[in-house]
Amino acid sequence: MKTAIVSSSCECQARLSAELDEQRVVIRGWARDPRRGKEELAPANSLGSGKPHFDVGWACPFCTRNVLRSFDVGGLSYRDARPAQIAG
Ligand SMILES: [Zn+2]
Repeated sequence: MKTAIVSSSCECQARLSAELDEQRVVIRGWARDPRRGKEELAPANSLGSGKPHFDVGWACPFCTRNVLRSFDVGGLSYRDARPAQIAG
């Protein structure tokens, strides 16, 4: 299976990331707080998959905001999924 990772920043400075499958369905989401060097799972889901632009929404585990970001399908880079390894 090939997956792609999208990332964005929350208003609280946490780095939000999500791993997507080839149908742009979120496999897992996580957030990293650079100030505390902490990483937490973050519920994430994608909206509008199947279009050239799609949105990914996260529930930030650090500040509880719901964060919605738009991404371009052309900007995704798919690679073979590796056994569970969280990008740093
Ligand atoms: Zn946040």
